[in-house]
Amino acid sequence: MSEAAATLSEARRPAPPPAANDALMVLRGVTKTYGGRGGEVVALSSIDLDVRRGEFLTIIGPSGCGKSTLLQIAAGLVPATSGSITLEGRPVTAPPRGIVYLFQQYNKSLFPWRSVRSNVAFALAGKGLDRHQRAKRAQSFLALVGLEAFGNHYPWQLSGGMQQRVAIARALAAEPAALLMDEPFSAVDALTRVEMQALLLDIWRQRAGLTIILVTHDVEEAVYLSDRIAVMGRRPATVERVLETGLPRPRDPVATREDPVFLRHRGELLDDLLGRGLVRR
Ligand code: ADP
Repeated sequence: MSEAAATLSEARRPAPPPAANDALMVLRGVTKTYGGRGGEVVALSSIDLDVRRGEFLTIIGPSGCGKSTLLQIAAGLVPATSGSITLEGRPVTAPPRGIVYLFQQYNKSLFPWRSVRSNVAFALAGKGLDRHQRAKRAQSFLALVGLEAFGNHYPWQLSGGMQQRVAIARALAAEPAALLMDEPFSAVDALTRVEMQALLLDIWRQRAGLTIILVTHDVEEAVYLSDRIAVMGRRPATVERVLETGLPRPRDPVATREDPVFLRHRGELLDDLLGRGLVRR
């Protein structure tokens, strides 16, 4: 391409949005193409997203639109094909300190041969604590998720919801700046899910400054939990819009779900996911 043509195409490309002042993480022009024998899959196409320090941000979109891919790229677990990801101004090229990624299949992320307390204490390695101090700290994180009486159990002796709470306690023990969660409650029953959502909000409220990025395809979950919701379109996905829920906190499992603002967001997001976006707007 000639220099003049290059300059022209540069000029046609819209300038990337400036990063928000309170941004913890900034993604610009992030694309992801998976290669394979069956051909290439363009999973993400030019994602621009700021994650604000201390916010609860949810990424929502239809199944297969690239939500997990985006979260894994943000966590430094999967490389982007192009674009940039920075955490506190530093490029993310590998899993950075300060970010903990909670896998969807919590039963695979816990060590079955370690006790619950020892699973949590594992996150405290390298923090200059002796064995006794680690066990004590682990116990305090177990208390935070209501499992103080289960430290000597093994993960497989607990229900799915309890195992996920252990995984959350272990994630928190690492004292991350950001907790990244991929469909964390998809494997638990409906009532446990509501309880887990309330627990997560409680923990988040107690740990001032903790940023949470959560991926879900559940509209109610997104509206109930979030400060902001990034809505992704179908593949190759971009962030179609970012909405501020503006719902008061603390949230209540019943009252929040009856709030007219909640109901309006829920309806609009469902329209988005059904591909009828902007019908009511
Ligand atoms: P979501 O989380 O929204 O369901 P994913 O990020 O899991 O979407 O996947 C987005 C697209 O990328 C899908 O078409 C999926 O099949 C494809 N994909 C995801 N991971 C891989 C991979 N490791 N190799 C090849 N294709 C992949």
